[in-house]
Amino acid sequence: MKKRRVLVIGGGPAGLMAAGQAAEAGAETLLLEKMKRTGLKLCITGKGRCNITNIAEISDFISHFGKTGPFLRQAFARFFNTDLMEFFNELGLELVTERGGRVFPASGKAPEVQRVLLQWNKRSGVRIRHSAPVDKILIHNERLTGVVSQGREIPCDAVILATGGVSYPATGSTGDGYHLSETAGHTVIPVRQALVPLETSGDEAKRMAGLNLRNVNVRMLINGRKKREEFGEIVFTEFGMTGPAILTLSGAAVDSLQSGHKVTLSLDLKPALDEKKLDARLQRDIASRGKEQISSLLRGLIPREMVPVCLDLTRIPADRPVCNISAKERTRLRSWLKDFRLEVTGYRPFAEAIVTAGGIDTREIDPRTMESRKTKGLFIAGELLDIQADTGGYNLQAAFSTGWLAGRNAAQITNGSEKKQGVGPC
Ligand SMILES: Cc1cc2nc3c(=O)[nH]c(=O)nc-3n(C[C@H](O)[C@H](O)[C@H](O)COP(=O)(O)OP(=O)(O)OC[C@H]3O[C@@H](n4cnc5c(N)ncnc54)[C@H](O)[C@@H]3O)c2cc1C
Repeated sequence: MKKRRVLVIGGGPAGLMAAGQAAEAGAETLLLEKMKRTGLKLCITGKGRCNITNIAEISDFISHFGKTGPFLRQAFARFFNTDLMEFFNELGLELVTERGGRVFPASGKAPEVQRVLLQWNKRSGVRIRHSAPVDKILIHNERLTGVVSQGREIPCDAVILATGGVSYPATGSTGDGYHLSETAGHTVIPVRQALVPLETSGDEAKRMAGLNLRNVNVRMLINGRKKREEFGEIVFTEFGMTGPAILTLSGAAVDSLQSGHKVTLSLDLKPALDEKKLDARLQRDIASRGKEQISSLLRGLIPREMVPVCLDLTRIPADRPVCNISAKERTRLRSWLKDFRLEVTGYRPFAEAIVTAGGIDTREIDPRTMESRKTKGLFIAGELLDIQADTGGYNLQAAFSTGWLAGRNAAQITNGSEKKQGVGPC
């Protein structure tokens, strides 16, 4: 029997998983990657350590994706975090689970993940062509018939489009899939930055650039009203703020700014102490360290780099003896420690955004198979879809799960009679 010919466009995590699965399911599989190497973005994930997945249970996992999360339920039902961990273990990649349920390769090296995936692809019989951008997909009678790469037509039975989003474009993710999918009848939900550092007004952040704070409660106010809050790590930068807590809030901040709303961050630098306890602590310090200058007392409360900013914003002279601090000044200091506000004026470009929000409308994709509802034989996987999650390994799991499903199903379709239920677990 003639083997089905499956073509995978894009060699990121979604494409590599899809290609290997299609080949293992018996298809003749060709992967076309436009860069000189596959998995360039994968190699820089998790600060070079690659946070592959998260051990959260399925409902919690899906809640990290926002509105389009439920679309992934069927993909996760077939290939989820424990399946992925087992898959990598079988490829000889040892894994460790860290704080927050985050799973990493034990070696701490993201390129190891790329290497085992590539080796597995080759063993499974996937042919990989590098420096081979796909410029066009060919469709006849609402059915996919092939692609064009560098002016050459390549016929096939199914195409898996896994070209990623538009963030970190130097890794090859330049948004080609949006245009390609539009030619196949798809709607692209406007793309915008997510998990992106934020820019703030004033020079406070710049004056503290490089300072990393671990236990901060960050409230995000939209037009003065609390919208969300996050507890965790923040980092001040030359232009504003980043760090896990800020990145998690950034998607909602971008959407609010784009809608013309005012976005403010309110930092609680002493979340373990309520106002009363913090006031008692300040009064104790003032009583016992009266001869010191205020700046010296503050160094016991906040990092040294924050002291000049705190004194400016609370309007307390740096050389004021602690015994001369007035009740009003103490109140201002307490309020600032619990509610240090920075106005968000913008966000960094796609080149600095960890993921792309928006993408191909998931309502146009069959969640059981990842096949397009617009063009038969076209499958879509990974970040190109309108799915995006918080940090924590969720985005890579989504790329692997959708890639798995697309690969298996693309290989199974025979002569136009698609398997409507999708394939079962391995
Ligand atoms: C700095 C950084 C750190 C991250 N860390 C994590 C993490 O630790 N955990 C996590 O879960 N997520 C992380 N992410 C997000 C995660 O990397 C992405 O969600 C994931 O890579 C998406 O996979 P993908 O296969 O859909 O797309 P991509 O990884 O973007 O791959 C797309 C591929 O398609 C190729 N391509 C594009 N156009 C064409 C074309 N026309 N023809 C042929 N090939 C084409 C590209 O060259 C690329 O190789 C991180 C992202 C960044 C930028």
